[in-house]
Amino acid sequence: MIEIRDLHKKFGALHVLKGIDLEVQKGEVLSVIGASGSGKSTLLYCINGLEPIHQGRVVVDGTDVHAKGTDVNKLRQKLGMVFQQWNSFPHLTVLENVALAPRIVRGLSMAEARDVAAKQLGHVGLGDKLNSYPNALSGGQQQRLAIARALAMEPDYMLFDEATSALDPELVGEVLDTMRLLAEEGMTMICVTHEMGFARDVSDRVAFFHQGTMEEIGPPAQIFGDAQSEHTRRFLANVR
Ligand code: ADP
Ligand code: MG
Repeated sequence: MIEIRDLHKKFGALHVLKGIDLEVQKGEVLSVIGASGSGKSTLLYCINGLEPIHQGRVVVDGTDVHAKGTDVNKLRQKLGMVFQQWNSFPHLTVLENVALAPRIVRGLSMAEARDVAAKQLGHVGLGDKLNSYPNALSGGQQQRLAIARALAMEPDYMLFDEATSALDPELVGEVLDTMRLLAEEGMTMICVTHEMGFARDVSDRVAFFHQGTMEEIGPPAQIFGDAQSEHTRRFLANVR
């Protein structure tokens, strides 16, 4: 499980996360919503150790992410991450792109890495694209490639940072369907998203971020139907 206690993060004078307390249980799907600049991406980067923190702690399966001596590279294998866009290697096939990290980081043999890659590409519905090159894929297929690449590390958690925000509207659904499938299979997920339908239908809980604080967290029925915070209600009125 992921435990976040009194997490503070600053960029220079800018106080971006102002004391976040949050626990994400195994198998839980948490959606994180909120206006641009509210600190959602920074939260994910602090969870996987891409950004140092200024106060508090983040503990993943008992390991303090930011403690001296923590092997962040090893920890990141547990935490798959999918960004808005991922620059795949254009000169490698889809299969080779996904096999690369298992080969290098997990130390699998070439044959093992290709097996894992083929399995995860099948998982995201790209089983017929193994030998294609990334630039032959649609935006939605490229995002599913990015998901397969993260899954090939066999992570225990998946962190999504607006995985569909850069896509043309007609391509959003296939990526959300893949995320929904992972959720149904029991993957533990933190999804920063602007897709309120996904947040409502797929999440166990939804967290609303406002200016660096977690203003409200609760089941979708609460957040979307009976928000306690005026800021939450105003945000939702504007995005719907
Ligand atoms: P969100 O993902 O909710 O849009 P971010 O976490 O990206 O918000 O950013 C929160 C705030 O931190 C914003 O004001 C942003 O400009 C600032 N910020 C993010 N990353 C950096 C950085 N590397 N250096 C300086 N400021 C940053
Ligand atoms: Mg962001």
